Amino acid sequence: MLQITDLHAETAGKTILQGLSLQINAGEVHAIMGPNGAGKSTLAYTLGGRPGYEVTAGSATFDGADLLALEPHERAAAGLFLGFQYPVEIPGVSNLQFLRTALNAQKRARGEAELSGGEFIKLARAQANALGLDPEMLKRPVNVGFSGGEKKRAEMVQMGILAPKLAILDETDSGLDIDALRVVGQGINTIMRAPDKAVLLITHYQRLLDYVRPDFVHVLAGGRIVRSGGPELALELEREGYAEVAA
Ligand code: ADP
Ligand code: MG
Ligand code: MG
Repeated sequence: MLQITDLHAETAGKTILQGLSLQINAGEVHAIMGPNGAGKSTLAYTLGGRPGYEVTAGSATFDGADLLALEPHERAAAGLFLGFQYPVEIPGVSNLQFLRTALNAQKRARGEAELSGGEFIKLARAQANALGLDPEMLKRPVNVGFSGGEKKRAEMVQMGILAPKLAILDETDSGLDIDALRVVGQGINTIMRAPDKAVLLITHYQRLLDYVRPDFVHVLAGGRIVRSGGPELALELEREGYAEVAA
């Protein structure tokens, strides 16, 4: 599904990714762990197409197509979802407006029929109920006045509605209490654990991996993957620290 080969990327004139290769197949959950400053967020931003992050060498294909040639909205329409640590607040725009606009824009880009208002409300209510978010909250402005846990539930509802093929979640677990962590874990498992979907979890700590068991764990250090293994590698990192394992 995602094939990254020898990726080099820079931001603000500084080379951050230096030959990163990674293959993610449908049905797999991968975790990338690494010390602060290793380039984890740079990888997420680069794959998402964020302005200011420039690829200088290497390639990334998504379902066989050149991901790096696509605009950010085209990457989303192709089935890429990015989640970040700090959800954005959008005063004046309700969750329902935001989500319906995003979903229908993606459907248009794929040449699919858009959902009517009624169809969309039904879908949104069903997703909110499935993920334990009071559907009434969908009428409120995006994330404004939401608690940390509510923001995470809303993000999972967003992911459920957009139904991406690949979710890249960058430290989405940082600063969460146990209840919110469980919400994120259940959301990822419910929405994304499927034979035709895949997940890339970027995390500094292994505790989210107690809820979402990865098939593969990779260590990112110095802008490339320096070690790969199974779930046990996350426990080894937690026990021994990055310096030891990445050396
Ligand atoms: P991580 O997510 O693993 O903590 P980042 O990808 O955020 O690492 O950062 C990798 C390196 O790139 C760090 O040295 C960081 O200071 C630098 N960096 C990231 N974004 C920028 C930016 N916008 N401007 C300048 N330096 C940046
Ligand atoms: Mg960081
Ligand atoms: Mg980061």
